[in-house]
Amino acid sequence: MQTIRGFRDILPEHIPLWQKVEKEAIFLFESFGFKEIRIPVLEKTELFARSIGEVTDIVEKEMYTFADRKGAKLTLRPEATASIVRSYIQHKMYATDPVRKFFMIGPMFRRERPQKGRYRQFYQIDAEVFGIESAFIDSQLIFLLNELFKRLGLTGLSAHINSLGCPDCRPSFQKALLNFIESKKDKLCENCIRRMDKNPLRILDCKVTGCKEALADAPATLDHLCNVCDDHFNTVKTTLEQQKVDFIVDKSLVRGLDYYTRTAWEIQTTSLGAQSAVAGGGRYDGLVKELGGPQTPAIGFAIGFDRLVEVMEQVDKSPGTNPLNLFIISLGDKAMKKGYHWSCELNQLGVYTEMDYRGKSMKALMKRANKLGAQYVLIAGENELAEHAVILRNMNTKEQVSLAVETLVPELIKIVKK
Ligand code: AMP
Repeated sequence: MQTIRGFRDILPEHIPLWQKVEKEAIFLFESFGFKEIRIPVLEKTELFARSIGEVTDIVEKEMYTFADRKGAKLTLRPEATASIVRSYIQHKMYATDPVRKFFMIGPMFRRERPQKGRYRQFYQIDAEVFGIESAFIDSQLIFLLNELFKRLGLTGLSAHINSLGCPDCRPSFQKALLNFIESKKDKLCENCIRRMDKNPLRILDCKVTGCKEALADAPATLDHLCNVCDDHFNTVKTTLEQQKVDFIVDKSLVRGLDYYTRTAWEIQTTSLGAQSAVAGGGRYDGLVKELGGPQTPAIGFAIGFDRLVEVMEQVDKSPGTNPLNLFIISLGDKAMKKGYHWSCELNQLGVYTEMDYRGKSMKALMKRANKLGAQYVLIAGENELAEHAVILRNMNTKEQVSLAVETLVPELIKIVKK
């Protein structure tokens, strides 16, 4: 049996980096006042269709959607924002305190064509802020991302930012865009032609080379911003400058989801080939209302956890693993019993201890202790037990000391946990 295409096991040797990222992210989120939220992996299909947009790649082509045994139409979550918005509304969080900051870490599912950095089950680290319209929050989220990447030792990343405007400035932009697209119609793929009437903005993220070339000079939202959106974007930029966060204004950045308004951004890397976006985010001031809640400004981002780890693997070759403190070599039945009880007690007290239950020879067990990288080895044979003293060997210095059986555990803790 094999995993499904695009799904993969993350094996123990890769886990230390995942845990390092998670620890650092949770620490930072908590310092910035974010609270963890956990949401289901399965939701009604309608939630994603309405929020991400019916005419988007995710909803049209990539969702894992199925009917359950009673015929309900369900979808494995392709992203977290829609579910968190649903939760914010469902639990009427706006009524007690509209200002909320959440983070969540977990798997997402999209049926894309698998390649390096692109999977059908992938993980995201997601953050969302509700109830704050100020542009300071836009800058703060980019600042937070920048800080996280810095702490993880990553360089060579760049923040691309854009403003997608709001419902006030969108119509003038859409008109200009449609005129432009009309003039390039013969160069566009079928999918783009189909989207012209339904959702012209999505044509701008078409991946087909011919379309990309034809649309290189397409009108940009930035050139159609209303005064309020323009001021908002200027504040984001000046605040980032003041905080010394490098960014590039990228007029062509549109993101692939319909709900974005105003600031949108992506953190890109040059070290992952085609899959250059490590994180993406943006404001979605209309979505809470769209899904049935009160008008509430909101903004968030998602980090591609798999991609982040892949970038880190290029620089962080040996993240700290949990070293084996003690390996117990018990020779004979009596020693095996004693060893077993010592090992449980030590495990309980936080000393990482292993032993081998297969009745192997002293030589084979020393070999195993070496293979596991044990810092100390405890040797307990019938003779040692008869004399109520066992031997502790420091595998680094090769020094050996004899320890009394009666006080073994407290003595071991003193030496091994030094
Ligand atoms: P999005 O929700 O599309 O804005 O994606 C946010 C981030 O998730 C992207 O910048 C990627 O790093 C990551 N991501 C999106 N799709 C995939 C995928 N299929 N496999 C791995 N990472 C992904």
